[in-house]
Amino acid sequence: MVDSKRPDDEYFVKLDQKKLQELRRKLNEERERLKRQMEKELHWMKCPKCGADLQEELLRGIVVDVCTSCGGIWFDKGELDLLLGRESAFVESLMAMLRKKR
Ligand SMILES: [Zn+2]
Repeated sequence: MVDSKRPDDEYFVKLDQKKLQELRRKLNEERERLKRQMEKELHWMKCPKCGADLQEELLRGIVVDVCTSCGGIWFDKGELDLLLGRESAFVESLMAMLRKKR
């Protein structure tokens, strides 16, 4: 009877396992990236409240996203700061509170 398990075989089995693990890791990463991309495309310019299309509109010189169904207005990061300015202490405290929640 011939011993089929030679020391060399073990080396190659371990090498294959390492390559498989690496391949599996890369595939998982790619799957996650595609999932995020699909979710972004699915939700892009959709109202987070009702799911209808958002339309860009100019509001006091700032482009905001307005829902075509419920009328909700959505700001990109920094747009609310620009719109409201920084005069009022109330606005300052409100913004500080909102920033804490991020
Ligand atoms: Zn809406």
